[in-house]
Amino acid sequence: MTVERAGFPYQFTPQTCGSCPGNCCRGREGYIWVTVEDIARQAAYLQMAPEDFTREYVRRAEGRFSLQERKSDGEYLCCFFNPDERRCLIYPVRPNQCRTFPFWESFRTDPADVLKECPGVRLRDEEA
Ligand code: SF4
Repeated sequence: MTVERAGFPYQFTPQTCGSCPGNCCRGREGYIWVTVEDIARQAAYLQMAPEDFTREYVRRAEGRFSLQERKSDGEYLCCFFNPDERRCLIYPVRPNQCRTFPFWESFRTDPADVLKECPGVRLRDEEA
């Protein structure tokens, strides 16, 4: 099954995630933006008080909230990414940024980075 979005020059095959090392949850230092509502949902999912969750897993950046990242072997991993099992530990309540990947506005006009990062992304009329 492939997924397409109007206005995006590429398609995405979700099944590819099964063999991917989790490229979208690791790599260069970055931000995993969360809202106050996300924090409440994620804290509840982990049965934590929002203030404890925030202290342990959230940082302020550019006037917003981002999930923490940890550095390992020269790359940055989301604090909720389990690299051994290649899975997200808060998948059912992951933030919108993660749910909408790889159809991000930043990739709409220039998909070069996402074509490099995600093995499940191909330009629309490119033969598999
Ligand atoms: S919240 Fe989950 S899906 Fe999003 S970057 Fe972290 S590990 Fe990946």
